[in-house]
Amino acid sequence: MVHFTCDLCGKDITSSGEDRFVVKMEAYPGFDPNEIKEEDLDDPMEAVADLVHRADEFAGEAADDDACRRKSFRFDLCPSCHRRFVRNPLGKTGASVLKFSKN
Ligand SMILES: [Zn+2]
Repeated sequence: MVHFTCDLCGKDITSSGEDRFVVKMEAYPGFDPNEIKEEDLDDPMEAVADLVHRADEFAGEAADDDACRRKSFRFDLCPSCHRRFVRNPLGKTGASVLKFSKN
């Protein structure tokens, strides 16, 4: 029997007989760091310099925290954590996370 625990609260989902919910998330840049923008074409030389500079910056960032890589996440959640998650997927504080009660 495959064993699942909730990735948020650590509850043993399998043995408690509760339903398991799966959350998948992906994070990736919404821009292309190597893209040449229209305004760059006014001055081709500057555009190339810009591009090199941007690529440098980007490489630096990538080394830091994988910012430019596509990252995917998968979580197993118990029903109550799933309920909380869909109400506030980003875990914002101050968001209307109403009526969530711990069991
Ligand atoms: Zn949970």
